[in-house]
Amino acid sequence: MRIHVLGVGFDNLTMDEAVEQGISLLQSPGAHYAVTPNPEIVEICRENLAARQAVNRADLVLPDGIGIIKGARMLGTPLKSRVPGIEFAAQLMEQMARQGLSLYLLGAKPGVAEAAGKKLAEKYPGLKISGTHDGYFQEDAPVIQAIRKSGADCVFVCLGAPKQELWMAKHGEATGAHLLCGLGGSLDIFAGVTERAPKFWSDHGLEWLYRLCKDPRRIGRMMKLPLFLVHVRKEKQQK
Ligand code: UDP
Repeated sequence: MRIHVLGVGFDNLTMDEAVEQGISLLQSPGAHYAVTPNPEIVEICRENLAARQAVNRADLVLPDGIGIIKGARMLGTPLKSRVPGIEFAAQLMEQMARQGLSLYLLGAKPGVAEAAGKKLAEKYPGLKISGTHDGYFQEDAPVIQAIRKSGADCVFVCLGAPKQELWMAKHGEATGAHLLCGLGGSLDIFAGVTERAPKFWSDHGLEWLYRLCKDPRRIGRMMKLPLFLVHVRKEKQQK
């Protein structure tokens, strides 16, 4: 049963359990997709029904930010653990490499997915990078066709929210892949274009502050975090 935070249902899993489920979806027939909402995405889902449906229809809904863990705890329905998308992706690739599975990287600015692909292939020997494409395409059909032709088992879809969730819900099946994962800015991190917050910051739930210091233009987006907590408090009072 999923744990609901402001209309988004989260799977209550540890990181290991989430990766195990990801691998099992990869090996099941048909297309599946995983999403990793943080408070900002939950706020988007409150206002955008199509985004909310795309998120809730995912086969795996993993709590990316510490804010989600806090929110679930405030509502009296705690989640086992934070499952950051980027760490989920790293562990999934480790397992995929062991099994010789293939991965397509979709998203980010031109050149970034390709650079990420080179680094990931070095880091996870055995992992096949079946192709890459930037995230600023105008037509879906050629991109879907390229993924299909590559024979990818898995696709990392990094187009930002809610674009990536809507894209996976609509086109996942047509790509022929068994698992698609919506991973936001992860390709920028894998390529070394942006830096992930050092462990101290993420251990203390301050990854958002680190990102804000590095890129003050994110302030508008970051304001969604206190708003999220206000909405959780309201929901708690109505319970
Ligand atoms: N992006 C994209 N196509 C678009 C809009 C965004 O490929 O039309 C990419 C963008 O270049 C970045 C990622 O999507 O690599 C979104 O990153 P963001 O930092 O917003 O994601 P977060 O990790 O905060 O969810």
